[in-house]
Amino acid sequence: MYQKGRAWIELNIEHLKHNVEEFRSLLPSGCALMPAVKANAYGHGAVLISKALQEQGIQSFCVASAAEGIKLRQEGITGEILVLSYTHPEQFEDLITYHLIQTVVDGNYARELQNDGRKFTVHVGIDTGMHRLGEWWENVEEIVKIFQMPNLTVTGIYSHLCVSDGKDAREQAYTLEQVHHFEYVVEELHRRGIHGFKQHLQGSYGILNYSELCFDYARAGIALYGILSGKQDKVNASVKLKPVLSLKARVESVKMLYQGESAGYGLAYCANRNHKIGILSIGYADGIPRNLSNRGQVLCNGKIAPIIGRICMDQMLVDFSGMEQVKPGDAAVLIGKSGEIEIRAEDMAGWAGTISNEILSRMGERLERVAV
Ligand SMILES: *Cc1c(COP(=O)(O)O)cnc(C)c1O
Repeated sequence: MYQKGRAWIELNIEHLKHNVEEFRSLLPSGCALMPAVKANAYGHGAVLISKALQEQGIQSFCVASAAEGIKLRQEGITGEILVLSYTHPEQFEDLITYHLIQTVVDGNYARELQNDGRKFTVHVGIDTGMHRLGEWWENVEEIVKIFQMPNLTVTGIYSHLCVSDGKDAREQAYTLEQVHHFEYVVEELHRRGIHGFKQHLQGSYGILNYSELCFDYARAGIALYGILSGKQDKVNASVKLKPVLSLKARVESVKMLYQGESAGYGLAYCANRNHKIGILSIGYADGIPRNLSNRGQVLCNGKIAPIIGRICMDQMLVDFSGMEQVKPGDAAVLIGKSGEIEIRAEDMAGWAGTISNEILSRMGERLERVAV
C-alpha cells in the first residue's frame, strides 16, 4: 500500500540516532539510556522506533502497559522492558510469558504480586514527592519487605521527578529534595545489606537539567524524539537535539471562497475577501487538536497557510491566499519543514494550549509511519 496517500508521519531515523549520541555523550559513563517508548513511542510508532534504538545498542526500554510491552516482544525487541504502571492481575501471566519487568506501584501491589504465587521480576517505584506511583520514600521498612518477598525478584528501584523542568528556586529545591529522598532509600537499603539493584530517576528534563546525577539508567522520552515540551523551555545541558517526526497530509481539493461566504461546520470562518482555500486530508481523529480551529498554521510549498474554520474529524480547511501554485495532490506539512520554514511540535502545542508530549502521543492510528 502507498503510505503517503492521505496523511502520514515521516520519521528521520538519522535524527533519532543523533539524539541518542547526544544523550550518551551527556550522561555519565555507566548510565544507560532506557528510552520511554510508551504511547506508541510518543506517537512516532513504537515498533519502528524501538527497532532503530535496538540497532543503536539500546538494551532497555520503558512502556506504560503490559500490552505495549507484548507488542514490542512480538516484533523482536529483546532487551529489558519495564512496565511503568499498573498491570491487572488477570494480565500477570503476560508479565511472565513476555519477560516484562513490572513496576511495584506501592506496598499493597507488591503483596498482590507476591500472593499470586508465580514469580515476577520487578522494579520498585519510590514516591519521592510527586505523589503519583510508588511506595512513599519514608516507608523504608515497607520497601525492605518488598525486597524480601520470595516471589519477587527486585532488580531495580526508581522514582520520578515532577518539577525537573522548572528553573525557579523553589522548583530546583524540590527536585534536589526528591533526589535526596531517593538517595536516602538507596542508603537505607545498602545499610541493611541489600545491594545489586539498579537505580533510575531522570526523565528528559532530569537528564537535561541535572545531568551530573549518576544512576544506572536514564528514562529519556520527549527529548529523545528531538523536542521539548514547550517552546519557551530552557535547559542547562548544551545538546543539539533534532526532531525525529514530521507530519504531513495531502491537499485533497482547492477552491475559491468569496467575500461574505462562510466555510466549515458552524460556518465558523467567514471570508472578508475573495481567496483560495484548500482542504487537507487530516483531522482531529488523526490527532490534530480541534481547538486549532481558526488558529494555527500549516506549510505548503515553503509558504504559510493559516488554518480556517473548524477542524473536522478527517479533514481541515486552510487559507491558500497568494499560493496560486498549490494544487490537489500536493503535500501539506503540519509539523516539520517546508522550504526554509519549519513548524515544530512545540509550535502546534503552543497554539493548542498544551505541551508537545500531548500533541505527539495523540497522533492517530490512521497515520502511516514511514522511515525516511
Ligand atoms: C513518561 C515517563 C518518562 C519519560 O518522560 P519524558 O519527560 O518524556 O522524558 C520517564 N519516567 C516515567 C516514570 C514516565 O512515566
